[in-house]
Amino acid sequence: MDNQIAIAENSLLTYLKCPVCGAIYDASVINTVCTDDACRSTLFAQYNLRTGITKQMLEGRPATMWRYKEFLPVIDEKNIVTLGEGFTPIVPIENLKQFIGDNEVLWKDESGNPTGSFKARGISAAVSKAKELGITAIATPTAGNAGGALAAYAARAGIKAIVYMPKQTPQIFKDECRLYGADLVEIDGNISDCGKLVNEHALLNGWFQVSTLKEPYRLEGKKTMGYEIAEQFNWQLPDVIFYPTGGGTGLIGIWKAFEEMEQLGWIGSKRPRMVAVQSESCNGIVKAFNAGHTVSEFADGGFTIANGLRVPKPYADKVILKVLRESNGAATTISDKEMSAALKEIARNEGMLIAPEGAALWQAFKKLKAAQWVKPGEQVLLINTGSGYKYLENIDQD
Ligand SMILES: *Cc1c(COP(=O)(O)O)cnc(C)c1O
Ligand SMILES: [Zn+2]
Repeated sequence: MDNQIAIAENSLLTYLKCPVCGAIYDASVINTVCTDDACRSTLFAQYNLRTGITKQMLEGRPATMWRYKEFLPVIDEKNIVTLGEGFTPIVPIENLKQFIGDNEVLWKDESGNPTGSFKARGISAAVSKAKELGITAIATPTAGNAGGALAAYAARAGIKAIVYMPKQTPQIFKDECRLYGADLVEIDGNISDCGKLVNEHALLNGWFQVSTLKEPYRLEGKKTMGYEIAEQFNWQLPDVIFYPTGGGTGLIGIWKAFEEMEQLGWIGSKRPRMVAVQSESCNGIVKAFNAGHTVSEFADGGFTIANGLRVPKPYADKVILKVLRESNGAATTISDKEMSAALKEIARNEGMLIAPEGAALWQAFKKLKAAQWVKPGEQVLLINTGSGYKYLENIDQD
């Protein structure tokens, strides 16, 4: 056994591939999406996964997402821009047993990441790769958390950050961007409106854009959640994973990680059923999934306390829907009122102040268990994507 351990030390990145039309792109230059006008899909980074690498190489590695550096896109380690993101804890539901029965329900708690959300993972990867490719200014539209993360990692990297955020976002999301030295542009509209403006201004000013899934590497950072889940569950994946779906990067990334690990021989072919949870006001994926459609329609019913879920039309909606179907998953919506109640229920009984996006998952779990979609004895993982501390101005305390 021991003499079979191959220790790769560097990124095994080979090229970028379009998952829709199969086109191949050179990963040593700057890329955005598939350049075929009829396609325009998100590009997926590819790695040499047939090198006989064993998971023993992870022993003694740092407890950050960069412990999986072979499967991340940075070629020269000195370009890694890290603030200690990733390797977040698995925390079981301890006290709310009356809702759980004989299921096992656990959180993957992303709230302790730098800037208080799992956006740190995607942005750490994207900013690192941008640094490697010589990029000096990065712009993004954001519903909140991606802006703060970009501002922080860009500051760390010595790169200029320009963030476009809806005016309605809680103040703290704006303050953190300014404190980290980013240029903040507040927009009277939603994230789609921000996206259009960023696109125009970026073209004029020569900024690189890291809009969700219009750039290949945020996906790679978020993918590390999939590697961690496997490692932390001792390479036996849970039965069901609940994911709060905005642009869908994490959902797609986790699924990509599972495929890579199966190719590596690190896990078998068994997959969790993936559940996309959206807010009632932004329910395009849920509607499309339940109607059997392969693409979603623009859906924006206005304000939600879960600002990370206010994405009216995810760029990679086709891929999200494909993952949900491949996994025999489900999709459901939760109202702001339910999220707020769930957030407080978790705070008061479990001692965790989770984001409304995470709280939506707890409510969704209860719903799908009552509907017997979650079956007795199944192990369920809920991904709490962020800290509740940034949302308090929209949560009443009674
Ligand atoms: C961005 C965000 C989401 C949605 O993530 P996607 O990967 O874009 O679907 C969920 N929760 C929080 C807290 C977020 O910031
Ligand atoms: Zn393509």
